[in-house]
Amino acid sequence: MQKITIAKGDGIGPEIMDATLRIIMAAGAAIETEEIEVGEKVYLAGNTAGIAKESWDIIRRNKIFLKAPITTPQGGGYKSLNVTTRKFLGLYANIRPCVSLHPFVATKHPIMDVVIVRENEEDLYAGIEHQQTDEVVQCLKLISRPGCEKIVRYAFEYAKQYGRKKVTCFTKDNIMKQTDGLFHQVFDEIAAEYPEIENEHWIIDIGAAKMADTPEVFDVIVMPNLYGDVLSDVAAQIAGSVGLAGSANIGETCAMFEAIHGSAPRRAGQNMANPSGLLQGAIMMLNHIGQTAVAERVQNAWLATIEAGIHTYDIYKEGVSKQKVGTKEFADAVIAHLGKIPQVFKPVNYATDKPFVLPKYKRKAPAVKELQEVDLFVHWPGTNPNELAALVEKVNIEGVSLSMITNRGIKVWPDGFEETFCTDHWRCRFKPTQGTQINKQTIIQLLGNAEAQGIDVVKTENLYAFDGKQGFSLGQGQ
Ligand code: NAD
Repeated sequence: MQKITIAKGDGIGPEIMDATLRIIMAAGAAIETEEIEVGEKVYLAGNTAGIAKESWDIIRRNKIFLKAPITTPQGGGYKSLNVTTRKFLGLYANIRPCVSLHPFVATKHPIMDVVIVRENEEDLYAGIEHQQTDEVVQCLKLISRPGCEKIVRYAFEYAKQYGRKKVTCFTKDNIMKQTDGLFHQVFDEIAAEYPEIENEHWIIDIGAAKMADTPEVFDVIVMPNLYGDVLSDVAAQIAGSVGLAGSANIGETCAMFEAIHGSAPRRAGQNMANPSGLLQGAIMMLNHIGQTAVAERVQNAWLATIEAGIHTYDIYKEGVSKQKVGTKEFADAVIAHLGKIPQVFKPVNYATDKPFVLPKYKRKAPAVKELQEVDLFVHWPGTNPNELAALVEKVNIEGVSLSMITNRGIKVWPDGFEETFCTDHWRCRFKPTQGTQINKQTIIQLLGNAEAQGIDVVKTENLYAFDGKQGFSLGQGQ
């Protein structure tokens, strides 16, 4: 008997959770549930995280969490409980299978069967944002080697376990050479360990277009957090409906399972919502905890129910569907189909599935790190970069001088273009001249000089080489 934490959430959450639990219990799931309250009520009671401290204790004790969607109230100050849970519990892998159910659910892509493996903890989702000048705010995109290794390895292990043929990586490393470049590089390294699985990389923009147009050419797709967030909704929607897709959030000790859709408040309390998304999450949960026979029974019954044309309103189509049902009646129909095998869809067979154990991340020996240059970011309300250069050159010290100014990444001094639009946020790069070496003391001196000149430095960024390889980008046009 496995104890799991459940949260019924908001909107349609309680209805789809009741339907899901009823189905899996009828199929023989050996689970005991412990319920916690999360979401809107908790937020509105003044808890900006949407969850009480005692609930964390329960989630951490049970380790397995089945969560219905929640409503994050409008207005500032409320942090997304989903993002917090994924990061607190180290749920680094987000798995979202998107399969079309042609000819029973309308889709333009009848043979689509894509699994999106989304990195879940870092990227722009690290949520580190700052306003630096009147005109400019920033969000730090953090990509780490352990983050990349864990998610890419997970994608290949998933492909191996589920007999998938190919893993595709989407990044934008032609532009983001450091961050997306690292993700792509790690993908290539790990792909080489799985010669039996085909691998390929696409630039995200054309890859996304291809996925929306011809999803059948993809199998497993692995990508950084933000791209995965956007594209998994696209994939679910073009497969048939966001209401059909489930999602697993997997960590080293804990895991959370959910539907990919939200709380659909306008459908709440009307016995209308499709419980399939959460049910798919629950099936992934049963596989994860080793109750594969139950997972298989539920999935085959669900496929047989969809084939029988018993559909909730969101996928009901005159001429294709046979019976329009509510949430409860849909659950009853799936229960009535337990033990049945789909006739048109391929029945699933999870018998050999087992949770895969990934090797622990091993930190590499540290590189030789050499401080080469430094960027001082300056808040300056002028518009002419030559005037700023004249001012900032007064900051120069012996052997270290201003080498370049950029505005939003584009070089504006020396030899900038008058046409380039400039904001009040300037990056001033200082470089050693005459082969001198710079150090932290140099930076302190530069900052001291800037302060004495009344220059408003909003941040500095140290520019390093690691084992002789430059660890920073050039200015655009440099
Ligand atoms: P939504 O996914 O709730 O709804 C989008 C559309 O899909 C609506 O038309 C809705 O009726 C329909 N839909 C969604 N699930 C359905 C189902 N199971 N059956 C039938 N139709 C379904 O997205 P939204 O309207 O943007 O968000 C509503 C709330 O949900 C917001 O407060 C948002 O923050 C929250 N949300 C929560 C989660 C989560 O808890 N994981 C995820 C996304 C959004």
